[in-house]
Amino acid sequence: MARWRRSFLREVRAELMRLGLSACPVCGASELEMLARPRLLRVGGPGAQGWRRRADADEGTDHLIAVRCDLCGHELLFDSERYRRSGESELVSGPDEDDDRPGG
Ligand SMILES: [Zn+2]
Repeated sequence: MARWRRSFLREVRAELMRLGLSACPVCGASELEMLARPRLLRVGGPGAQGWRRRADADEGTDHLIAVRCDLCGHELLFDSERYRRSGESELVSGPDEDDDRPGG
């Protein structure tokens, strides 16, 4: 299953903090977590005909970055295209590239 590159999430987190995101807009808690897996949003197409059907040619999938409040569970979604560097894929699969912990 695909997940965001950790370095990408760090960059997005820094940018969101620079823009002023420091607490949950619902409950005010400051425990906001960047989720490793993208949220997928189907865009375009003929409309609702079931989730399991194939995507149409005029249909696309947006990959959204989710930030979840640890206290109330509210999720904020951000368009990954807004933060992507041109030509690079920020989604990876397989083992976490940053999991080389000292002593592990
Ligand atoms: Zn909250």
